[in-house]
Amino acid sequence: MKYILYKFLTLVSLFLLTFCYPEQQPIAEEQKSPDLNSIFTQAGGMTKFLTGRYEQVAILSEIKDISGTKNHYLLPEVAKQWKAMSMAFDKEKSKNSKQSLFLVSTFRNFNQQKLIWESKFSGQRKMREPVKGKSPEEIVSLILEFSSAPGTSRHHWGTDLDLNALENSYFEKGGKGFEIYNWLSINAKRFGFCQPYNAKSLRNNKGYEEEKWHWSYRPISSSLRQMWISEFNSKTLKMEGYKGSEIMNSRALDYVSEVANDCK
Ligand SMILES: [Zn+2]
Repeated sequence: MKYILYKFLTLVSLFLLTFCYPEQQPIAEEQKSPDLNSIFTQAGGMTKFLTGRYEQVAILSEIKDISGTKNHYLLPEVAKQWKAMSMAFDKEKSKNSKQSLFLVSTFRNFNQQKLIWESKFSGQRKMREPVKGKSPEEIVSLILEFSSAPGTSRHHWGTDLDLNALENSYFEKGGKGFEIYNWLSINAKRFGFCQPYNAKSLRNNKGYEEEKWHWSYRPISSSLRQMWISEFNSKTLKMEGYKGSEIMNSRALDYVSEVANDCK
């Protein structure tokens, strides 16, 4: 009899536990799409993915550039949409246009970004002004005009691409890419792409200077931006491992969060 009573009580408690106290899901888990979850697992964790500390070949699709010599890496969905967009431009451009869209830069990992950053920090790579005689804070400000600090770049996400030429004048009136830029301004959104670094005056005058060559696949990068911000605010994601990283602790947030409204 005692045994039956014990069994009965165990069953009742199991029922209560299962149906009255469903397991609570952390909010961040609910916001992630299933695809991102598996990507983060492959990268060794969300923070590793967001800061570019992962092996891209396992996660990103490889694309050959126009010359066939350089490999580019993008998330599979982004690669598909990029191809569709570049083909659409070729179909829809003016009859006598010789221009096409091509990739200049896509995925960069933490260490690649660190090489760019530190070569500018040391003055090896030229910037608008020389670094000689400047304080570390001033040097960091100068680098941040056009380069991201390691761990803060959207190029870590496999969602962002630099097209054709890394200068705004190329895309402006009189430049080779004027038609391209006009077409992208109207049509990129058909394929999910937006220009995160538009005129700085439209972004509270914060963050990077305008980059007419940099385009981002919003259906994925918008979530990644939000996750980066919450990981940084909760101090899970930290600025470390490169020259001047301590200065970035107070500046990183503005540079990741201040993007065009249609990229948020
Ligand atoms: Zn870029």
